Amino acid sequence: MIFSIFTKMKDSIYENAFRHRHGVRWVLAFVVAIIVLVLYEFDIFGRFELMSLDYRFILRHPNIGASPIVFIDMGEDSIEAIGRWPWPRKWHATLIKILSEYNANAVALDVLFSEPQDAVDDTALAEAMRQVKFVYLPILYNLKVEDTRYAYSGYGISSVMRQLPAFEKEAKGTGHINTVPDLDGILRRVPAIIKFKDAVTYQFGLKMGLDMLGIKDRDISFYPRSHFILARMPGDRVMKIPLDDYNELVINWQAKWGKEFRHYSYIDIIHSYAQIKEGKAPIIDLSGLKNKICIVGLTASGLIDIKPIPIQNIYPAVGINAMILNSVLKNDFLHILPKRYNILIIILMSIFVTLYLSNFRLLGGMLMSIITIAAYSVISIAIFSFFSTAILTFYPILAVFLSYSLTSLYTQVIQSVERARLFKQATRDGLTYLYNIRHFNLLFEAEFRNAFMYKSRRLSIVMADIDNFKHINDTYGHQAGDTILREFARTIQSKCREVDVIARYGGEEFIVMLTGAGEKEAFDIAEKIRLAVEARRFKFKSETYHTTISAGVAEFSGEKNKDDLIEKADKALYKAKHEGKNRVCPASSVNAGTENAPPYTH
Ligand code: GH3
Ligand code: MG
Ligand code: MG
Repeated sequence: MIFSIFTKMKDSIYENAFRHRHGVRWVLAFVVAIIVLVLYEFDIFGRFELMSLDYRFILRHPNIGASPIVFIDMGEDSIEAIGRWPWPRKWHATLIKILSEYNANAVALDVLFSEPQDAVDDTALAEAMRQVKFVYLPILYNLKVEDTRYAYSGYGISSVMRQLPAFEKEAKGTGHINTVPDLDGILRRVPAIIKFKDAVTYQFGLKMGLDMLGIKDRDISFYPRSHFILARMPGDRVMKIPLDDYNELVINWQAKWGKEFRHYSYIDIIHSYAQIKEGKAPIIDLSGLKNKICIVGLTASGLIDIKPIPIQNIYPAVGINAMILNSVLKNDFLHILPKRYNILIIILMSIFVTLYLSNFRLLGGMLMSIITIAAYSVISIAIFSFFSTAILTFYPILAVFLSYSLTSLYTQVIQSVERARLFKQATRDGLTYLYNIRHFNLLFEAEFRNAFMYKSRRLSIVMADIDNFKHINDTYGHQAGDTILREFARTIQSKCREVDVIARYGGEEFIVMLTGAGEKEAFDIAEKIRLAVEARRFKFKSETYHTTISAGVAEFSGEKNKDDLIEKADKALYKAKHEGKNRVCPASSVNAGTENAPPYTH
């Protein structure tokens, strides 16, 4: 019962899906869009989106060009020459003086001098910084990991590692060197500013860049969350610095470590200077430092802060500042497409692809999906390379996948519904929904051949014809006749076994094939049908009708042709009519005459 209701429900859903298949395509399109939007909102596949961003970095051609930025690396060679870290601070004082003498533009000394060391050395360093007035120093905030994304508001900051006051006083400026690793631990963004106890600290590289461009604090407007820092530049130019939803700068990685800017060794600069003083040829040409912004950082392994970045697994953190400084100087930032546009992309992609793909079959659809995904990837890479803009990529591609899966599933359902419908149409009679004669003959032929080959198998047929049907039609009308035909079909079905094949043979003549049944069993079934019809009151338009049937029964007994068996049953039927209708006549009684009829005939 419940199963049959379910089956009917399923059938009607399928039928409706077939009838409204054009509307359904739009429904599918919106279903795809909504699923992908929900996944996007909860960022279920955030890691994959980040991965796709990384691929765009990797595929982009490095674009550094000529740059005023140089690195001064405190590497293994310098450790070997100077000794264990931390070095006496007089070395830094010496370096700063050399850089000044060779007309460097600025120095970022990426070292935290938070504790006093040697009083004489400390004074020497402070004095050197005072004289040159172009040294920038970093500040590190202790951010609770879970709160790093709110750093701009000062939330979650427990303490700060500042420079010694004597150093900070002499520095040209300070900037923070905090970073915000993504879910996968890869470094892609840093807080643009950190507010702590009413003080605003810009990111180290950003701070230097703004200073280099001559931008003062009053020229800067900060539009929190996905807005930009607008800076009025010399010559009335305006520069926009894009921020993400958490007021972070997304770093525009241009090249791997060592492949981007010129690198000098710390100790080489000091040695060269000494060599020049001694009148010898220097290892390196210090005149190359003229007008350069020198970023001095630790690169010796074991001592340095190493982070994985999209284009490199191991990257010295000091490089982050150079990358950001480079972006500011060249006005070449990475733009992350605002969320509302990404949502629009998802919606348009879902609708376009679903409507489009539903025109294709299984393989064609797969091919078109692959082409669509490839095309979108190329577009996304092109937009990244030419406009430094990252559009949402993984989720729109997911929409294509989902769209293909749903449309092909839907196409499958439609096709199977249509196939079933066509099969029904070809094999069933339109009025009674019993098999038509063509399909009956097909099934009968197969069974007949079986019975013919394996003589042990029994096979019988029943031919039934409604009595005086012409009269019913003539008296009550054709429609009443049709109703009786339909009802009669149900009556036969209810009296036959599941395996019996029932067909409308013609007009108001019906045929039943009974496998495994002999004449006696077939007779019994036919008799049951006859009695049921006799007892039944057929209803049409509040009128009731009464009718009877006659039937002939025949069992296979070595006939060469299936038509011979049908003829046998037909003759029996004729006999039943002839003897006064409303009766069943077995073929075995036809030639024998009534007197020699088998005992089960009436
Ligand atoms: P008999 O007892 O000898 O069988 O008499 P009968 O009137 O039933 O005679 P016959 O079988 O020759 O008549 C068949 C009639 O059935 C003729 C036709 O009008 C009617 N008929 C055939 N097909 C349909 C149909 O699809 N719908 C209706 N309403 N009548 C049909
Ligand atoms: Mg008839
Ligand atoms: Mg007839």
